Amino acid sequence: MVRPVRSICIVGGGTAGWLTAGIIAARHTSGSDAGLAITLVESETIGIVGVGEGTWPTMRSTLKKIGVSETDFFRECNVSFKQGAKFAQWVTGDSSDYYYHPLMLPEGFPGLDLAPFWTKFSGEHADAPSFSDAVCFQEAVCELGLAPKLITSPEYSGVANYAYHLDAGRFAAFIRQHCIKNLGIRHVVDEVTAVVKNDRGDIDYVETARSGRLAGDLFIDCSGFRSLLLGEALGVPFVDCSDVLFIDRALAIQVPHDDERSAIAPHTLATAQKHGWIWDIGLQSRRGVGYVFSSKHTTTDAALGELRTYLRERHRDLQPREIKITAGHRQTFWKGNCVAVGLSGGFLEPLEASALVLIELSADMISAMMPATRETMDIIARRFNETTRYRWDRIIDFLKLHYILSRRTDSKFWIDNRDPASIPQSLREQMELWRYRAPGDHDFMSNCEMFPAASYQYVLFGMGFRMDVDNMPSARNTDSARRAFRQNAALKSKWTQALPKNRDLINKIKELGLQKI
Ligand SMILES: Cc1cc2nc3c(=O)[nH]c(=O)nc-3n(C[C@H](O)[C@H](O)[C@H](O)COP(=O)(O)OP(=O)(O)OC[C@H]3O[C@@H](n4cnc5c(N)ncnc54)[C@H](O)[C@@H]3O)c2cc1C
Repeated sequence: MVRPVRSICIVGGGTAGWLTAGIIAARHTSGSDAGLAITLVESETIGIVGVGEGTWPTMRSTLKKIGVSETDFFRECNVSFKQGAKFAQWVTGDSSDYYYHPLMLPEGFPGLDLAPFWTKFSGEHADAPSFSDAVCFQEAVCELGLAPKLITSPEYSGVANYAYHLDAGRFAAFIRQHCIKNLGIRHVVDEVTAVVKNDRGDIDYVETARSGRLAGDLFIDCSGFRSLLLGEALGVPFVDCSDVLFIDRALAIQVPHDDERSAIAPHTLATAQKHGWIWDIGLQSRRGVGYVFSSKHTTTDAALGELRTYLRERHRDLQPREIKITAGHRQTFWKGNCVAVGLSGGFLEPLEASALVLIELSADMISAMMPATRETMDIIARRFNETTRYRWDRIIDFLKLHYILSRRTDSKFWIDNRDPASIPQSLREQMELWRYRAPGDHDFMSNCEMFPAASYQYVLFGMGFRMDVDNMPSARNTDSARRAFRQNAALKSKWTQALPKNRDLINKIKELGLQKI
């Protein structure tokens, strides 16, 4: 007997739950007779994690796809533009030490690879610009505090590639409203008290405190760190990655702007500290700041002291919230008729804001591959698990890259991070190859890559990694490279004059709105 998939039950109403609900509902016309029926249950008392303010440019296509207006999003979610990350004090720890990982590809990339030319030039000229500044105009735009688009740019398009900084609490509420009002999601506010399996080991239904049983053909676990369905009920083990990534605590705080005209940085600032790093994200009405650190290397009190020093002793009255983190992920993400999305699938430190994008990618994949029947679900589950595991492994490699190139010696945290035993074999192999040529698309063979080769270039060369270019044939034909460097300089000059200040554009969007597409 064929068992069709007609109904989905999502447990959890954080960003993972509502984004997943929206992405699936938009594609599968939930709420209509022919569509999938989606129920989302969330507990009012448990609440959401309430952090997670940095996104990827993918969020633009996600919001567009689920039918959200960018103007409304700016008006409702305390949103600002993000054009990449500035990493301060990661290499030497000096106050002048910084590099950028912008969101735009280097000029001409991937057809033209400017890395060997820049490496040669910077080896011969002490005053050479940084790699990201030489190949991409976005660093200059960020340094000047400018927005990535004009008020005349339509919704979701820009002059420079961009993502967002957002208020996690407001965002979940905003997507919830949209899903209930426009996408036909049934919303149940209640606590799941038991997960009941059938004799095949699938989840039959979840029991709730007041609303009875909620059944489904497919269950999506968005219950946060607790992993109520996949981890607790189905017993899928957790793969601990804290031997590679040591961060296991966060002290998160919300800091008001000095006044309503204060500049809003158009990038995430990640400043390395003695035992971790501090994120600093500018929203419209406040900054989100947090120190993520390793409790094996320092105490919460000492970390608090470092955070207060960062905030220059101001805001002493504000008390940060401590969040425990275990770096790692579930061994598999889809078992039987249950798939985990969001923190229930795992979490790694937020260094490159990789959690929300993984939610978007996972929800997209579930939605695109939605099993028609229970019988085909195991094939899809296997594919989903392979792809998702690959993605986690690549995120781990990329995050670790930021640590192994540091030359900081001011604490055991940084020294331990360079211990070869803590570096995944896959990353060690890449580093061997990159001594003689820059990262390229051939180094990443999946079409499910998380980070493009250009991202590796920005981090490697930003952190002072040197390739051996003397025998590199690609470093010899300089004409096309010269043209590309000149083109970048021209774009830099043009857009640093034409783009508005980040806050000014945000204010204008709130007042006038962006042109709809
Ligand atoms: C310190 C920190 C910084 C971060 N920064 C970033 C960042 O910059 N960028 C980024 O992409 N990500 C970041 N993240 C990750 C991001 O916050 C999460 O991926 C995102 O918020 C999704 O969370 P979630 O929905 O999976 O879980 P949660 O927000 O915890 O939601 C869980 C939901 O499950 C519900 N629930 C739990 N148990 C039950 C039950 N028994 N019955 C009913 N409902 C239940 C809860 O009520 C809640 O609605 C950060 C995370 C941390 C910890």
